[in-house]
Amino acid sequence: MSDFHHAQLDWDEQGRPLSREFDDVYFSPTSGFDETHHVFINGNDLTRRFTELPAGGRFCIGETGFGTGLNFLCAWQLFEQCAPADARLHFVSVEKFPLTRDDLQRALALWPQLAPQVAQLLDQYVAIHPGFQRFNLAAGRVVLTLLVGDALDCLPELDARIDAWFLDGFAPAKNPEMWSPSLFAQLARLSHPGTTLASFTAAGFVRRALREAGFAIKRLPGFGKKWEMSRGLFTGERQDDAKPWFARPRFVPQRREALVIGAGLAGCATAASLAARGWQVTLLERHGEPAQEASGNPQGVLYLKLSAHGTPLSRLILSGFGHTRRLLQRLEQGHDWQACGVLQLAFDDKEAQRQAKLAEAFPTDLLHRLDKAEAEALAGVTLPAGGLFYPEAGWVHPPALCRLLASHPNIRLLPHGEALELQRDGDLWHARNAECTLAAAPVAVVAGAADVLRFPQTAGLQLKRIRGQISRLPATAESAALGTVLCAEGYVAPPRDGEHTLGASFDFHSTDLAPTAAEHAGNLELLEEISPDLGRRLHVAELEPERLEGRAAFRCTTPDYLPIVGPLADADAFAQAYAVLARDARQVPQVPAPWFDGLYVNCAHGSRGLITAPLSGELLAAWLDDEPLPVPRAVAEACHPNRFALRRLIRGQSA
Ligand code: SAM
Repeated sequence: MSDFHHAQLDWDEQGRPLSREFDDVYFSPTSGFDETHHVFINGNDLTRRFTELPAGGRFCIGETGFGTGLNFLCAWQLFEQCAPADARLHFVSVEKFPLTRDDLQRALALWPQLAPQVAQLLDQYVAIHPGFQRFNLAAGRVVLTLLVGDALDCLPELDARIDAWFLDGFAPAKNPEMWSPSLFAQLARLSHPGTTLASFTAAGFVRRALREAGFAIKRLPGFGKKWEMSRGLFTGERQDDAKPWFARPRFVPQRREALVIGAGLAGCATAASLAARGWQVTLLERHGEPAQEASGNPQGVLYLKLSAHGTPLSRLILSGFGHTRRLLQRLEQGHDWQACGVLQLAFDDKEAQRQAKLAEAFPTDLLHRLDKAEAEALAGVTLPAGGLFYPEAGWVHPPALCRLLASHPNIRLLPHGEALELQRDGDLWHARNAECTLAAAPVAVVAGAADVLRFPQTAGLQLKRIRGQISRLPATAESAALGTVLCAEGYVAPPRDGEHTLGASFDFHSTDLAPTAAEHAGNLELLEEISPDLGRRLHVAELEPERLEGRAAFRCTTPDYLPIVGPLADADAFAQAYAVLARDARQVPQVPAPWFDGLYVNCAHGSRGLITAPLSGELLAAWLDDEPLPVPRAVAEACHPNRFALRRLIRGQSA
C-alpha cells in the first residue's frame, strides 16, 4: 500500500478533532470559528478586500493545511456576504492527510452557522486521492483546488498567483516542516507585491524565515490565550520561471466571448468551464445535438489506466477522475451513471503483476485487489480470475454528462453548424462553413477530435484516429445480476435501460463508421474472455453478429497518449524563434512564444474522455482567465500543444 493515508483522529469530550500524527488540535478549543475570523480573515483584511473587488473580479487564497476546511468555509461564507455577485473565489489548499468524509462531517457539525457551505462541500467530498483535486462549489463561484500530498512536494508544482495566504500547519514546534525556509520560498514564488499572509503563530524562527523569503512581518495580538499572531505583506518581486513556450500568453480579450468548435465531451466541458466564469459561449456542433460521435455511446466506463510510476498521464487521470466523479454527483444515479465500481480482471500473469504494483502504489479506497471468490461475489457472475477493483468508478451515459455541461444559460448551442474554416479577422476568430461565418469571437477553442487537423493552425498536431465499435446486448433476467463493470481486453457494463454495452474494437485503419458484423463478433469474443458465465446468461450462442445493434466512432489520440490542451502557437514562427534548441536543448531564449492570440485546443482524449475532458475544460479556463491551474505544472506541460513543436526542434527536425 502507498504511504498515503487519511488523518487519524481522536475526539475530545466536546466533540473536537485532535490529530494523532501531530498530537495537536485542528482548531482553537475555545472557538475555532472566531479564531479563524480573528487570525486568517482579519489578518488578511479580507472583508475589505472582498467588498472592494471589481465586478467580475477574482481573489485567490492559498492555505497550508486544509484540515477540516473550517478556514475555507469561513472565507467562502464571507465571500458570499461581501463580494460582488459575479466575482469568484479561488481557494488552493494543501493537505497531506485529508479527513475521511465521515470525520469531516463529524468535525463540521460543530458549526451550524456554516451549514449551507458544509452541505455542499460534503456532497462533493468524494474521490479524494493524491494529487490536485478540484471542486466547483456555489454554482462555480467558489473553486477549491485541494493539493493532496506533502506541502513541500505539492507547492512547487502549483501554477497560481496567490493574493492572501493562510499559514495553518499545526504548531511549529510539532510540525517544523510546514514552517521551513523551502516552503516559504514557494509561498514567495506564488506571491506578487501586495500579497498578504496571516498565521496564528508568531514564533521567532517562523518570522525570521518569512522575512528572508520576502515578507514584511508584523506581530499582532493573538486569539484567546495566544499572545501574538503574525501578519505579513510580500514586498519581493513576482517571479516567473516558466519556459516561454509553456508560459501563459499575455493576450487579454476585449470581451469575454468564445466560440467552441465541437460539442462532444471536450467541447461541452470547455464551454461549461468558461460559461461558469461568466463567458458568453457559442458551441458549434455539426450534428443536430451534442454527443453524436465518440461521446455518444450509451455507456462509457470510468476506467483508470494508472501507472505505478506517477507519470503525467497517470496523475492527470487521478485528478480528472476526482473532478468527473464530483460532477457526476449532479446526474441521476441508475439512469445517467452508476457508481457500481469497475473490476479489471487479472486475465494473465503479466496483468496480475501489473495489478500487484498498482495495489502497492495507490490507496486502498481508490483500488484494491480481490481474489476470484471476492470478485465473483461482487460481480454476481462466475469469473476466470480475480482482479483489481475500483470501488468509486462505474459507468456513465456520456450524452447525459455532455447535456449537463452544455446546459448553462451562458452557452448558445449552434446545431448543424460545421466549421470548415477558422480565420482571424481583426480581433475576432471567425468559424465559417462554405457560405458564411457561423460564429465570431475573440477566443476560439477547437475541440473536434482529429477533425481539428482541417484547420491550418492545428494541422501540425500529431493526432491518430482509432475506430472503435461497441455492441448493445439486450439484458436477460440472469445477466441483470451483473453488479459491476468488468474489464479485460474489452469491457461489459451492468445494464442501462435494459441493455449492456460491450466494447470495444480497435481499428487503426478503417475510416468507415458503419458498424460491422465482424467487429460485433470480435466483441463477443472479448466477452467470452471476460466471463463465459455472463456470455451464457446473455445467450451469446444464439446471438447473430449481423443482427446486433451497436455503433462505431473514432477515438482521437496522440503518440504519447496525453490529450492536447492549451494555447496554440504558430508552428513556423515557433521553429524560428527557438531554432537554437536544435543545437543546444538546454537553452531558454527569452522570446515570447508566437501565440495565435485567443486560439486554444482541447482534444485527443482517446477512450478516456470521461476522465480527462472535463478537467481539461477547467485547465483551459484557467489558462484563459489567469487562474490557478487545476493540475501540476508538469502535467499541464505534458498536455501542452507546444510539446510536439518543441520535441521536433530538439530532435533537430524542422516544423
Ligand atoms: N486549516 C485547517 C482547518 O480550517 O480546519 C486546520 C489545519 S490543521 C491545524 C493542520 C493541517 O496541516 C492538518 O490537517 C495536517 O494534516 C496538515 N499538514 C501537516 N503537515 C503537512 C505537510 N507537510 N503537508 C501538507 N499538510 C500537512
